Amino acid sequence: MYLAPSILRSYSRAIIGTFLILASLLGGATVVSAAQLASDITPGKSPFTFEPLSDFADLGVATSYKVVGVYPSEDVLYRLKYCESRVFDAYQTIPKAQREQLRAIKFLWYSDSARGLGGNGSIYLKCNDMTDDVLTSVFVHEMGHIVDTGLYEGKAAAGLSVYNDSRATVFKNDPSINFYSISWKDTSHTVSGSTAFDFVTQYARSNPFEDFAESYNFYLLHGSQFTFMAKTNARLARKYTYLRDNVFNGKEYINNNIKLNAKKRSYDATVLPFSLEKFLNNV
Ligand SMILES: [Zn+2]
Repeated sequence: MYLAPSILRSYSRAIIGTFLILASLLGGATVVSAAQLASDITPGKSPFTFEPLSDFADLGVATSYKVVGVYPSEDVLYRLKYCESRVFDAYQTIPKAQREQLRAIKFLWYSDSARGLGGNGSIYLKCNDMTDDVLTSVFVHEMGHIVDTGLYEGKAAAGLSVYNDSRATVFKNDPSINFYSISWKDTSHTVSGSTAFDFVTQYARSNPFEDFAESYNFYLLHGSQFTFMAKTNARLARKYTYLRDNVFNGKEYINNNIKLNAKKRSYDATVLPFSLEKFLNNV
């Protein structure tokens, strides 16, 4: 039996490690013990009543919560629930075949951590210090990893492709290779003649997997910008066409016209404004 390696991909400029979690525990509030802070927040464990929203559970997505570095007050728990409800709204907007790949979400309240992690059916999302727009955008990016690693997989019998790193194994017949190969020779080298304009954001240039997740985000939240940039860049046009025909079955999301610019590339997708209302109304 083939066991997929863990490929939870971090969406943050900072690298999260055990030392960071320990540091936040040691440097955080001292009202409760480190062990209590580190324990998952579940009904009965928290000093306050905490009943998670049931919507995700009804749809087969397991939810859990973790509060680190601060006292899990009623206000923190209320805001975790608020975070969950915002994410649920976005989840319902994702096409069914794609969202069904998501099996678990952990909502985090950390003093310092990556904003999101995604892969192999699981997403971790940081809930503190995030606006509704940024939270939605990070969630959509992580769904890109879920779709990439869940819906489109190759078979071990085909052998390893050139798109592998310490956290990801991609087999030669993985359909996503048709996307990766537009800009990537292998996991860490772009094709010859590649420029920054071949990517929707600067972050998309990190590796083929972030390229997929950022492009997926752009397809859903910045469809007008994506098609506008694709008019003057053949590789972006191929990425857009791949997503439209192979991932979204022809459905397009030309949903906003905010600050169209064919020559600008943002650091990442979450810094670009978009219409949350139009996205949630599936326009
Ligand atoms: Zn990512």
